[in-house]
Amino acid sequence: MARKKIIAGNWKMNMTPSEAVELVNTLKPLVANEEVDVVFCVPAIDIIPVVEAAKGSNIQVGAENMYFEEKGAFTGEISPNMLTDAGVKYVVLGHSERREYFAETSETVNKKMLKAFEHGITPIMCCGETLEQREQGVTMDFIRQQVKVGFLNVTADQAKTAVIAYEPIWAIGTGKTATTEQAEEVCKGIRECIVEIYDEATADAIRIQYGGSVNAKTAPELFAQPDIDGGLVGGASLKPDFGAIVNYNK
Ligand code: PEP
Repeated sequence: MARKKIIAGNWKMNMTPSEAVELVNTLKPLVANEEVDVVFCVPAIDIIPVVEAAKGSNIQVGAENMYFEEKGAFTGEISPNMLTDAGVKYVVLGHSERREYFAETSETVNKKMLKAFEHGITPIMCCGETLEQREQGVTMDFIRQQVKVGFLNVTADQAKTAVIAYEPIWAIGTGKTATTEQAEEVCKGIRECIVEIYDEATADAIRIQYGGSVNAKTAPELFAQPDIDGGLVGGASLKPDFGAIVNYNK
C-alpha cells in the first residue's frame, strides 16, 4: 500500500498569534493538495488561533513539544490533554534544537512518544546526526540508537501510525540540503531499523520525512525517493514557498 506523503511546517519560535493567523490565511489556498497530509507545527500560544484560522482547510495543526505527565507542578510545560482539547493532531518530539538547547534526551523523547500515543496524538519523532558524526562514519549507528530508544515499548500498531523525521543537524537552517542520495540512504536505513524492531508491515506503514533546508527546488526530487514520505520544513514553512513545497508533485 502506498504511503500518503506528509509535509509539515515547523515554525519554531516564530509568529505572534496575530501574525500566525495572517500566515494561515495566506497559505490556506496555497497548500491545498489532497494527495498530501499538511501539518502546521506551531508555537503553543499560536495553537488555538491557528486551529480556528485553519477551519475548513486541509491544514492539520501540530505542537512543537509536549510534556510526558498528565498534569501537575511542571511550570511552563504543556500536557497532552491541553493539546488534544485545543485540536492538535501531531506533535514534534526530539527536535535537535530541543535536544541541544533544552537537554532533551532519547529517554525523555521515548516517554513523550508513549504519552502521545496514549492520547491519540501522532508523534513526529526527529533524529539526525551532527556533521562530526557524519565525518566519523557513525551516522547510522547514532540514528539507529535514537530510533531504538525513542520507540522503546511502542507497539507495532502504534509505530505504524508514527512519523519519523530524519534531520541531519548540519542541514537544519543552514541552507545546505542533504543530497537526495544521502537523504534516501538514511531514510532507507531507518526503515530497515523499523523492520528489525518490528516487522516488514510496520516498516511499510511508518512514514519517514526528510528535513533540513528543504525548499521548492529540492522538494520534488527528495519526495520522489522510495523511502522519503515527505518533509519537515523549517524556514520555508513561513513563506508562500511552502505552497510550492506542498504541491511538489503538480
Ligand atoms: C527544522 O527545523 O525542522 C528544519 C528542517 O529547518 P530548516 O528547514 O529551516 O532547515
